[in-house]
Formats: sequence, structure tokens, C-alpha cells
Amino acid sequence: MKITIAGAGAMGSRFGLMLHQGGNEVTLVDGWPAHVNAIKEHGLHANLNGEELTVQLPIELQSEVKEGEKTELIILFTKAMQLDQMLQDIKPLIGAHTNVLCLLNGIGHEDIVEKYVPMENIFIGNTMWTAGLEGAGKVKLFGNGSVELQNLGKNQEQVASDIAKVLSESGLNASYSSNIHYSIYRKACVNGTMNGLCTLLDTNMAGLGETHPAHEMVATIVNEFALVANHEGVSLDVPEVIEHVEECFDPTTIGKHYPSMYQDLMTNNRLTEIDYINGAISRKGKKYGLATPYCNFLTQLIHSKEEILKAK
Ligand code: NAD
Repeated sequence: MKITIAGAGAMGSRFGLMLHQGGNEVTLVDGWPAHVNAIKEHGLHANLNGEELTVQLPIELQSEVKEGEKTELIILFTKAMQLDQMLQDIKPLIGAHTNVLCLLNGIGHEDIVEKYVPMENIFIGNTMWTAGLEGAGKVKLFGNGSVELQNLGKNQEQVASDIAKVLSESGLNASYSSNIHYSIYRKACVNGTMNGLCTLLDTNMAGLGETHPAHEMVATIVNEFALVANHEGVSLDVPEVIEHVEECFDPTTIGKHYPSMYQDLMTNNRLTEIDYINGAISRKGKKYGLATPYCNFLTQLIHSKEEILKAK
């Protein structure tokens, strides 16, 4: 299949590499000139479960995408705040039969995607794969994962299953979900607690879990997500979600990991996706007349920290 990966950072590179190895015709599109040039000149370097690989993959700077042959599938993997600009830049690749799969973390990306893509061609999903960017042109890819996805348009279930099949044939372990909004909200609860709290408290997830207020903070934030989700017809099993979130505290599994927001802001001085996680709950809460004080406050604190650190 002719596939474009729009946003070829850590996750886009993982998906691009695996889909290429699976025999698809993959092109990467990205907005970071140094990364694009490094891949053009030296290929994509990957440490894939300990094995060092260099793969030659076509890559284009998003601002230079030109009218040409339309692509069959676009997988969106920008950071949330880069999504709108990416979709504008790749408009020349989107035809009447181009399916677009959005796999970013966070809530409400479909509102942006639908400005550029007809509803029947939009698919949204959730992934448990992980990836790390080690510098321009270089990624570290460890462990296993999965993908769940669903169509937003009516009667497109078969197309969603076909996309999942293409991904699975390249080892990405994808499946059709009949309730993707539930999975997205459930995962957003993990990001909406671990990301902001660990970043503000300057600790890893195990460190957060050892503090006395941790459980109450997690439970309050998850309840705010559940309140908003419920207004949208998604009924979260709150005790199960809290238990799922608190599994992150376990130092023998992933507890010693610093969440991605910590790495973005504290390690790499980059802006965060807070507006699309707790900030999305805050905005939706305001719109629906629901109180979301913890999400409001967390969003403000992270924005203040971004300003103090002059993150870009
Ligand atoms: P990423 O930061 O690695 O890449 C996103 C974009 O930012 C890419 O276009 C990349 O080129 C650009 N970028 C990265 N570093 C840059 C720098 N120093 N200067 C300029 N541009 C830079 O993001 P990601 O980790 O691939 O995440 C993409 C989406 O997937 C996000 O919504 C994220 O929350 C989600 N996600 C990530 C993981 C993970 O393990 N990384 C797992 C699941 C979901």
C-alpha cells in the first residue's frame, strides 16, 4: 500500500520503518529540517530491540510537499499542536480516496482532521507502541505494542478492518475497535495524570506513586475525565481506570520511566501537549458546564512552567 507518515518523529519513524519492512511503499513527511536532511543523506538509523539498522526511506519536508500522486493511507503522528499545520501542508497528497488515520495521544483531534478530510475517510485510534527520538535521524525502538482503530464515518467498518490488517501484516498488531472513544479516554487518563504531575513534581511515576496525595490526585483527575466523557456518551469504568493508571507506579514494570511530557519539557525544553489532554477536558468542561478544577489548574501550571523554561 502507498502510505504517507505525516510526522516522522519517534512514533512516525517506528510505524514508517515497520510498514516499510512489511513491504509497503512508505514516504515520510516531517517539519524538522535537520531530521529530514539527516534521513535524506544517511537514512533512518534505528536501534530496533537492540539491533542497529539503517533504512533508506523517502522523506519530504512538509513545507515542500507538492501536488502529485495521491496517497492511499496517511498516518498522522505529529505532536498535537503541530497537527493543523501538517494537514494544511499535506493537502496535495489527500485525494477523494485517501484514508487518514490519526494516532496521536489526546482528545478531540478529529475536530481538526475533519477540516481537511471527508468524515468517511477519517479513522482514529490509540496505540500502546512506544518510541524514542535520540536526535535528528535516529530512533530507539524497544518492546511490543498494539493499535486499536475505528472509522468515524458511517459504514466504513470494513475499511477500518482492512487498515488494521495492513498494519498487522507489518507486525504492528492492530485491531478494529467498536468503541475507540472509550480506549482514547482511558489512555488519556494515564497521560492526564502521569504527564502533568510527574513534570510539575520533577519525579518519575514510581516517585509520584510513593507520595501520600498521589491516589487522591489521580482519582480526582480521572473523575473529571469521566464527567466530560459521560457527557459525550462514553461511560468510563472509573475504579478500573484508576487501577489501570496506578499500575504505572510499579517500579518493577514502568514506574521508573519519566513520562513523555517530562521528557519534552524538562529534558528537551519543548512545548507540551497539555492543551490536548487536561486542557481538552478543561475546554470541554467549560463548554458543557461541568466543573474540572484539577484539569484547569494542571493546564495552567504546565503553561507557566513552559513560559518559565522558555520552551519552544
Ligand atoms: P516526536 O516529538 O518524536 O515527533 C513529533 C514531531 O516533532 C515530529 O515531526 C518530529 O520531527 C518533531 N520534533 C521532534 N524533536 C524535535 C526537535 N528537537 N526540533 C524540532 N522538531 C522536533 O513525537 P512522538 O513521540 O513521535 O509522538 C507523536 C504522537 O504520538 C504524540 O501525540 C504522542 O503523544 C503520541 N505517542 C507517543 C508515544 C511515544 O512513545 N513516543 C507513544 C504513544 C503515543
